[in-house]
Parts: sequence; C-alpha cells; structure tokens
Amino acid sequence: MRYIEPHAHMVSRVTDDYERLVLAGCRAVCEPAFWAGFDRSSPQGFYDYYLQLTEYEPRRAAKYHLPHFCWLCINPKEAEDVGFAREVMALIPEFLPKDNVLGIGEIGLNKNTRSELRILEEHIDLAAQHDQLILVHTPHLEDKLKGTRLILSALQSDSRIKPERVIIDHVEEHTVREVLDAGFWAGITLYPVSKCTPARAADILEMHGRERLWVNSACDWGPSDPLAVPKLAMELRARGFSEAELDDFLFKNPCRFLSQCDKFNVTE
Ligand SMILES: [Zn+2]
Repeated sequence: MRYIEPHAHMVSRVTDDYERLVLAGCRAVCEPAFWAGFDRSSPQGFYDYYLQLTEYEPRRAAKYHLPHFCWLCINPKEAEDVGFAREVMALIPEFLPKDNVLGIGEIGLNKNTRSELRILEEHIDLAAQHDQLILVHTPHLEDKLKGTRLILSALQSDSRIKPERVIIDHVEEHTVREVLDAGFWAGITLYPVSKCTPARAADILEMHGRERLWVNSACDWGPSDPLAVPKLAMELRARGFSEAELDDFLFKNPCRFLSQCDKFNVTE
C-alpha cells in the first residue's frame, strides 16, 4: 500500500516516526505551520521555525528518502495580537519560493474571535497575492460549524480565491457537506482521543464518497498517532474497499490536490 500523509507536525515527532511512516508505505509528508504548544515571544522565533520547516525537517526526512513539504502562516491561536501577527506574516514572502513550500496554512479560526477573523482574511489576501494553495484549520474547542461557516464566507468573499485550490481540514459529520458543496476540498483528521476515529471516518466516506476528500493523522506533540492513516486503511478493507479504491483515496486524492502546486512532484 502507498499513501500520502498530508498533515503531520514532524518537528514535534522523533526521527523513528519517519522510519515508521516509510515502512507503512508513506510516499510524502506535508507539514503545516502550527502552534508550538507555547507562545513564541518574538517574530524571530517564527523566523527560526520557518527555517526549521524549510531546511532542517526536509533534510531529516530525506535520510529516510521521504519527501517533506510544508505550509507557512501564523496559527490562529497566536493571532489575537493583530500587530504581532502582522509582523510575523511580513516574514512569510521570503520563504514562499523555497523548494518544499506548498502554500499558506494552516490558517483558520480557533475561538472564532474578531482578531482571528481579521488575520484569517489577511492570510487569504497573502495567498491570493502570491498565487498560493491554502490549507485551513477549523476549530474543535469552540463551535466548529459556526467557525466553518465564517471561514467559508471569508474565502468566498475574496473573488481571487478558487475553491478547488483550498482544503478545509478537520471536517466532521456536521461540516463536511457544506465544505464539499461549496466546491472546496475537505480533510478528515484521525485522532485517538478527539476528532475522528477510523470508524467515523469510514462512515463519512460511505455517506459522502471520496471525491475532493483526504485523510490525515495531524500528529503533533499531543496524543496523536503518526500511523493513523494506514490504520484507517485496515478499517476500510474490513468494509470491503478494494486496493484500487484505497490507492485512489489515500494516494491519488492528495496528489490531485497538492499537484496544483508545481513543487509537489510525487507521482508514483
Ligand atoms: Zn495541524
């Protein structure tokens, strides 16, 4: 079996996880910028993080012959101080031409606040100005449906944004339909303690089909499982999915979306 891990925070994983991913059939890993588990005290902290995402992590992954890609932004959790967020965002254009940068992400909302929404809109503008793909995080602690609707309307009110170039991540049973019906891609996240279990993800697939849908582990520094995607494959096999269907969903679908960025050159 081959698959893509389209959302993993490898900076907070051990090197052995790269080996496990490769042994399980992973052909590329993609890492959105996120909250480090603590607030960085200066824009320089983000500068170093962007260097880590664009230079150090790809080298660590390359030791296992695993292509590593990333997305850049300031996470919504750190967007409450709008002035600080803007200073950080000013650093991003310098990094966009790097070989492994796929676009702007994971942007979005955390607590659905006014400041978060303003920085979300400015990230959307940054992506449009530089013709970048967008990866969006939807809230889990606050109202996910309300946050998803705010995000969809922010994206739809910018006429430069093409929905097929945006993925809305962490969808669940009550948000997936609106995202797909609006023409966007949707991501399902598998977590051991929150978000979707393999069984729930399989139910969503059976109900909504697999078009414009991908699945990820979003593994990070919290309770999470870098092998969640191959574990979902076991659940899907048990439900009668063929190997060709698994390949189409777990490998070809992420390739279809990510290949809209020329730098994503994983084809087999
Ligand atoms: Zn994430």
